[in-house]
Amino acid sequence: ALSLDKVHHTFAANQVVKGVSLDIAPGEVVCLLGPSGCGKTTLLRIAAGLEILQQGSVSLEGQAIAAPGQRHLPPEKRNVGLAFQDSALFPHLSVLENVTFGLKQMPARQRRERAVELLAQLGMADYIDTYPHMLSGGQQQRVALARALAPTPKLMLLDEPFSSLDARLRDRIRDDTLHVLKKLGSATLLVTHDPEEAMFMADRIALMRDGRIIQTGTPRELYCTPVDPFVVTFFGEVN
Ligand code: ATP
Repeated sequence: ALSLDKVHHTFAANQVVKGVSLDIAPGEVVCLLGPSGCGKTTLLRIAAGLEILQQGSVSLEGQAIAAPGQRHLPPEKRNVGLAFQDSALFPHLSVLENVTFGLKQMPARQRRERAVELLAQLGMADYIDTYPHMLSGGQQQRVALARALAPTPKLMLLDEPFSSLDARLRDRIRDDTLHVLKKLGSATLLVTHDPEEAMFMADRIALMRDGRIIQTGTPRELYCTPVDPFVVTFFGEVN
């Protein structure tokens, strides 16, 4: 489980995160939703340890992983899976090798089995010996997701992982990814600016505006009992 408590963050004189608290249970997918520039990516980067915590606390499985000004645990030791909008694969490694890359601790045979299983779940079973430059953008993104999921991270952090994909592909990949996430039981924070995506993916949505979370709840709660006109406007386009 991930727990963010009263997190603040400032770039120069620009306060971009203004006291955010958020808990994500194991197996739960929380979508951090909000307009461009509201601070979503910054919050995800703080949870990942890519941004040094300035104020507040971050804990994983009940253990503090950062305190203001210091990292208790570097990103690679946090058991966190990361995937971004355009996650770069290692160009000199095959699809299979890209996915097994983070599994150094596992015996070689198990590593391969694990990678093949995940690639199959994400519809990439036929491409294990292919190299990244031979794949479409959507296929590369599937491999990037498999790579992030392979070590069975306690926490998955996904930043607009589907937004560079063709609309036709997107539903399938969302579906496949959700299926894998639920099976692994990772706590997931998914950043998106797309209310429809949040409706589809989220157990709960945290709607953010200007550095603050305006409302947290199930998609149904936000849609049916919005706390604020901003929530209504944001969901206005979704039917
Ligand atoms: P988007 O959906 O457009 O990515 P976002 O909600 O993820 O937006 P952030 O990327 O967290 O928003 O950015 C929040 C604010 O912080 C923006 O005004 C941005 O310009 C600023 N910002 C982000 N990173 C930095 C940085 N490294 N240095 C200075 N300002 C930054």
